[in-house]
Amino acid sequence: MGINERILSAAAFEQAQRVIPGGVNSPVRALKSVGTTPLFVKEAKGAYLTDIDDNRIIDFCMSWGVFILGHNNERVSQAAIDAVWRGSSYGIPTVSETILAEKVRQAFPSMERLRFVNSGTEATMSAIRVARGFTGRNLLVKFEGNYHGHADHLLVSAGSGVANITNASSAGVPDGFVRYTAVLPYNDTEALHCFFAEHGHEVAALIIEPVACNMGVVVPTEDFLKATREVTEQYGAILIFDEVITGFRLAFGGAQQRFGIMPDMTTVGKIVGGGFPAAAFGGREDIMRVLAPEGPVYQAGTLSGNPVAMAAGIETVRQLSQPGFYEALERKSDDFITKLEQIIAGRGIQLNRCGSMFTLFFSSKADGSEHFNDSPVRNFKDTQRSDQQRFARYFRNMLSRGIYVSPSQFEGNFISETHTPEILDYVLKSIAESID
Ligand SMILES: *Cc1c(COP(=O)(O)O)cnc(C)c1O
Repeated sequence: MGINERILSAAAFEQAQRVIPGGVNSPVRALKSVGTTPLFVKEAKGAYLTDIDDNRIIDFCMSWGVFILGHNNERVSQAAIDAVWRGSSYGIPTVSETILAEKVRQAFPSMERLRFVNSGTEATMSAIRVARGFTGRNLLVKFEGNYHGHADHLLVSAGSGVANITNASSAGVPDGFVRYTAVLPYNDTEALHCFFAEHGHEVAALIIEPVACNMGVVVPTEDFLKATREVTEQYGAILIFDEVITGFRLAFGGAQQRFGIMPDMTTVGKIVGGGFPAAAFGGREDIMRVLAPEGPVYQAGTLSGNPVAMAAGIETVRQLSQPGFYEALERKSDDFITKLEQIIAGRGIQLNRCGSMFTLFFSSKADGSEHFNDSPVRNFKDTQRSDQQRFARYFRNMLSRGIYVSPSQFEGNFISETHTPEILDYVLKSIAESID
């Protein structure tokens, strides 16, 4: 396929940098860590993006997992357009909020009551406030490399864009703000037990990506995920599954359905807004009752439950609830992954995968060694031994072949309904050519 020089994108980036810090409204978009500059998108349809230089590019990032139905799904777009013509915000309730809430609860029985917000960041922030209000405790436990949005007290050893910052925290966050955030290693059941044995009775909430996707995809061991449920139950702490990325992705009912574990609270985002700013947090009825106006925990939003986002969400979830949707996506992903495993075998690349999301971690050779470090990637430390330069070359090679993979090893790639076997075969061929 091959792509044109990105002349107009380069100019657009220049201009953007004069008014927007770094030229982007979210840091990873700048493509700095992969040694290139962003393409500016004109439009998207299905599995394809078109940039302003008229390159047609296969997308594997899919707005960070939002578009499980592909870009610009006809019915989702139509539902949103219809909603716009009825007025795009009122600050007064609409029935659409109840309809989507009921659909979300059907998928996630752990969300007996739920509330909509505008972003995953707000959802996790609000869920934690509720958990603290409910338990009357302060301490929050999170895992190294898990990303829960950019709220101050969550920017400790966070993944996603933050994974590229050496000091995993952010400037501008006072020490005091993270005083109540404890960070434990992912997939380390023993460390989890040890921590709770000492501090369990002080813990308000344990928040986890039940399948990590913001340090690259890292799958939990069954034993570890079960342990998060057991210790929180034992010590009266709230277990929050942050399913902003895995919700409606790994199954209709997310990772909690896939692994058969019921958390006390859940956050969903990305897919649930059908490409519009919407996310939700929810949980057991007795917990959620602490929220204003019923209870003392304040939380609000001018555009929360926005009718355009609700309309897009309702149509998205309706399509996802069709029988066989996830089975078909899983089968297609299985087939792709099996072929991919053959391509990368012996090449010093670790493939982590769950359902329709996957990451390739490029290993480096230890000093003086002939061999790649081929041990599995199970936690944040393992992800950090990846070879950034090798990955950057791979990213640029793929882009030159007209494929946009997620621009970091610390992010996932996403297969959608619109990634046909033909597209996936072209991607496999391109990966084979791009990994060296
Ligand atoms: C994307 C993401 C968030 C943050 O959501 P935003 O909408 O970007 O604020 C939180 N948690 C997880 C697991 C995510 O993947």
